[in-house]
Amino acid sequence: MQPFLEIKDICLSYRSLAGETEVLSHISFSVSPSEFVAIVGPSGCGKSTLLNLISGLLQPDRGEILIHGQPISEHSANVGYMLQKDQLLEWRTIYQNTILGLEIRHQLTPSKIEKTKQLLTQYGLSAFRNARPSQLSGGMRQRAALIRTLVLEPDLLLLDEPFSALDYQTRLQVGDDIGQILRKESKPAILVTHDIAEAISMADKVLILTKRPSSVQKIVPIHLDISDRTPLSSRNAPNFKYYFNLIWKELNQNGTPVQ
Ligand code: ADP
Ligand code: MG
Repeated sequence: MQPFLEIKDICLSYRSLAGETEVLSHISFSVSPSEFVAIVGPSGCGKSTLLNLISGLLQPDRGEILIHGQPISEHSANVGYMLQKDQLLEWRTIYQNTILGLEIRHQLTPSKIEKTKQLLTQYGLSAFRNARPSQLSGGMRQRAALIRTLVLEPDLLLLDEPFSALDYQTRLQVGDDIGQILRKESKPAILVTHDIAEAISMADKVLILTKRPSSVQKIVPIHLDISDRTPLSSRNAPNFKYYFNLIWKELNQNGTPVQ
């Protein structure tokens, strides 16, 4: 099967008056259609930079990023990006927030409005349609942000530490919710996280990056011995701990604490 996304030998340095910072060094990996990939690595190693390259916000110095075999610049891939801060606008209601992207793209058609309302109901937010973001819990806000992203029907989802601002209990719940939503949508997704357990519980494979200048240290495919896998149930799989220890050791070999 042709991969959905191919990252081929990517290098990137930031240049400023103060000098040059080499961030990514010969990074290669691929993502299959509907595969969920988690990326872990030391703080400042270039994880967000890598997502910015994949979204087309930055251009690599070297290497190629292909979607369905075509360079991203030529492919009109629709990439959904979710960040740690949900970026909901307080002066808009939850419903108005979820349609923001559609408004900006002039895609506010009756069928898209219907789809938005359906997602709000499906993900337990219809009673909060007219509420302001500050009236919602952190987990509900993240779900609203996810709906705003999903109604744009992205071909690929990029998630940059989307749960790290939430407390532990909420993070487990929201991670489980969002993981299940993404499985249902069966879209390819890339999750950057500093939480090893979160990476294993959600991903089909975990990409471990070295410290900067960052290269791929190891790619760990995750095969959990569990039926009806969800992010929460994954944590009870007998071999969950095996993967945790493996990734923990790899990151510690890195010599820098993970974040
Ligand atoms: P991570 O997400 O893994 O923590 P980042 O991709 O945010 O890492 O940053 C990687 C490195 O590049 C860091 O050392 C950071 O300080 C530097 N950096 C990030 N953005 C810029 C920029 N726009 N200009 C210069 N340096 C940057
Ligand atoms: Mg980052």
